[in-house]
Amino acid sequence: MDALADLDLRIAGCRACPRLVDWREEVARTRRAAFADQTYWGRPVPGFGPPDARLLIVGLAPAAHGGNRTGRMFTGDRSGDVLYQALYDVGLASQPTSVAVGDGLELYGVRVTAPVHCAPPANKPTPGERETCRPWLVRELRLLRPTLRAVVALGAFGWQATLPALAEAGWGVPRPRPAFGHGVRVGLDGLGGHGGLDGHGGHGGHGGLGRLELFGCFHVSQRNTFTGKLTPAMLTEVLSEAAEAAGLK
Ligand code: SF4
Repeated sequence: MDALADLDLRIAGCRACPRLVDWREEVARTRRAAFADQTYWGRPVPGFGPPDARLLIVGLAPAAHGGNRTGRMFTGDRSGDVLYQALYDVGLASQPTSVAVGDGLELYGVRVTAPVHCAPPANKPTPGERETCRPWLVRELRLLRPTLRAVVALGAFGWQATLPALAEAGWGVPRPRPAFGHGVRVGLDGLGGHGGLDGHGGHGGHGGLGRLELFGCFHVSQRNTFTGKLTPAMLTEVLSEAAEAAGLK
C-alpha cells in the first residue's frame, strides 16, 4: 500500500471531533428518504485521486448526504456534479459524473480533498474543528509534494485552511497572508528539500519542493451555482489555468 493510501485509511478511522462524529453518524442512521435503502459511509471522507497528483483541489467538508453517504469526496451531491463536470471538461476526469465508489471515475493528475474530513452540521465546521483536522491536510500535502505544483482552494474557508497547511508542509506563504478572491493566483516558493527549486516553476528534485501556484475559486456549493455567483465557465477557467500551471496541459 502506498503512503497516501495508508494515510487515507487512517483518516477514515479518525474520531477526534466529538461533535462531528456524533453528527456524521446520526445522519448515517437517520438518512434522507431518497437514500433510505442505502448504507451510509458515516465516517471521515479521505481525499480522492492519484498519489502523484500535480494539482490538488481543496474544498470545505463532505456533505451530509453526499460524501458522508458515498464515502468519496464530492460524490453523490449537486456540488460534486458541478465540480466533476468541470474537471471532465478540462480533461482531468474520465467521466463527467461522480455517483458512487466503483462507478469507474478516474482523475488524471488531480486529487480532491477537504480541510475538514467529516460532514458538519449546516456545512459549518467550527474554527476548532478546522484546526483539529489540519494535521491530516499537512500530511497529505507532504506526501504529494514531490509532484504537487498547483492548488485550487474552493471558497474562503478552503483558502484560510490551506494557507497555514501549505506553510507547515514547507512552502513559503507571504505575510500578511493573501486574501481570498475568485481568480486570485499566488505563487509560493518551495522551501528546503533537495533541489526543490529549479527556477522555472517545474520539477523539484527527489522529495524537494517546487514552486507552487495557489488559486482561489468560489466554492461549488449550491448557493453559489444556483445563484450564478459561480458559473460553469468561471469554474473551468480557474481549473484550466491551474492545470496549465501544474503542467497538466
Ligand atoms: S473532522 Fe478531521 S480531525 Fe475531526 S474527526 Fe473528522 S477526520 Fe478527525
